[in-house]
Parts: sequence; C-alpha cells; structure tokens
Amino acid sequence: MRYPPPVPSIADNLKAVRERIEVAAQRAGRDPASIKLVAVSKLKPAAMVRKAYEAGHRCFGENYAQDLRDKAGELADLDIDWHFIGHLQKNKAKYVAPVASMVETIDSIEIAQALVKRLPEGSPPLPCLIEVNIGDESSKSGVHPTGMIPFIKEIMALDRITLKGLMIIPPFDEAPEKSRPYFKGLRELLVLVNRELDLPSPLSEISMGMSHDFELAIEEGATIVRVGTAIFGERE
Ligand SMILES: *Cc1c(COP(=O)(O)O)cnc(C)c1O
Repeated sequence: MRYPPPVPSIADNLKAVRERIEVAAQRAGRDPASIKLVAVSKLKPAAMVRKAYEAGHRCFGENYAQDLRDKAGELADLDIDWHFIGHLQKNKAKYVAPVASMVETIDSIEIAQALVKRLPEGSPPLPCLIEVNIGDESSKSGVHPTGMIPFIKEIMALDRITLKGLMIIPPFDEAPEKSRPYFKGLRELLVLVNRELDLPSPLSEISMGMSHDFELAIEEGATIVRVGTAIFGERE
C-alpha cells in the first residue's frame, strides 16, 4: 500500500531554507551568519507565524500596515523582530512605527518623517533601508539611483531614523538568473554611495532575494533575504 508523501511542516521548510542559505553562502565564500532571513508572513495567519516562532525563528516580514499591526498585536506575547517590507502610505505610518524593528521600504522623505512622528516617545531610532528602483520601469516605488546621494543626505539629517542600507524588489521573472543584474547593480550602488558619502559608519545592509532567487542574491552580496512561499507555502 502506498501513502501520499508527508506534507512538510513550517519547521521543515524553515530548516530547508536555512540549509540552502548556508550552501549558497559557502559557495560565495561568505559566513552564513552574516545573512539574515526574514520570513515573509504576508497574507498568512498569525498561527503560522507562531509555528515558525516555535521552530526557533524570530524575524518576520509584513507588507500591509494594518496586517502588521494586527499580527503584532495578536502575537504580542512573542519576542518578534518585525520588518515592514511593503509600500507604505503616510497615513499608515502610525500602524508601523510602534511595532517595526526595521522599515525596508523608505522611498520618500515624507514617509520617513511620518514614521518619525509616530515613533513612541523615548524609543530608539528606527533602523531603515531605502527601496531602490534600478531600471525597473514597471514599478513606481523606489528611489532612482540618480537621485540617491541627495536623498540619503536628507534621510541622514532626520533625527530618530538610522539608515542601514538598501533594498530592492526586481521585476519578477520565473528565471532567477534574470534577477542577477539587479542584485549586482544594488551591490555596486552601495559601494558607490559609501565612497561618495563620508559616513560615520558605512551602509552595510543589502536586502534582496525572495523564494525563487535568494541563493543568487546571496552570491551577489545580500545581507537580508526575504522568503515567504518557500516557508509558508503559496499565497491565495
Ligand atoms: C512577498 C514578498 C516577498 C516574499 O516573496 P516569496 O516569493 O513568497 O518568497 C519578499 N519581499 C517582498 C517585498 C514581498 O512583497
């Protein structure tokens, strides 16, 4: 008698993704510990986040401001490191600022200011990344590389925001290799920005790579990978 293969659990999936991160890092001659895995739980119930937490995972990513607020509320008993990775509107900053440990998608001064305004009194500065739009005409979000230096200077001038690095969402293509030029481009932009700006501490975080292409992103220097489907399964 034959049985259907067992359905992998979230814990199994996490383990498999961590192993793939390790292999990719080793191939690139990098320390796997230098790569942070953001488990993207968008559109998935809080119960699934709790499962991943029980499997030892701590860092989760959400795209929708109200969903982040709701899940952070439901899971307030857990010590979760929430990354906001979606497009943010000014009037939604109030849902994100109190709970996010990092906002990866800063693409305007107005958004950065709105977040600062909504930070709880006495809380430490909010770590942020700038979302970059490298040659992707189809996407309206993200700062173009040409305006990057003045934009960074403006962000740096804000109190209570700590700029950590850059983030990219390349146009989706089934073929992961199609993402590689974008990954390379982001890495080069970070190097250039650090050379141009005399920062007290150089920008070091590069957030890139999703379920279908995170291994390539690691080869190209990602320090943060954002993986949803490979951990939580397909979204409806
Ligand atoms: C949904 C999403 C991810 C994760 O995508 P998967 O293909 O499910 O791994 C990563 N980053 C951003 C910005 C997303 O919106």
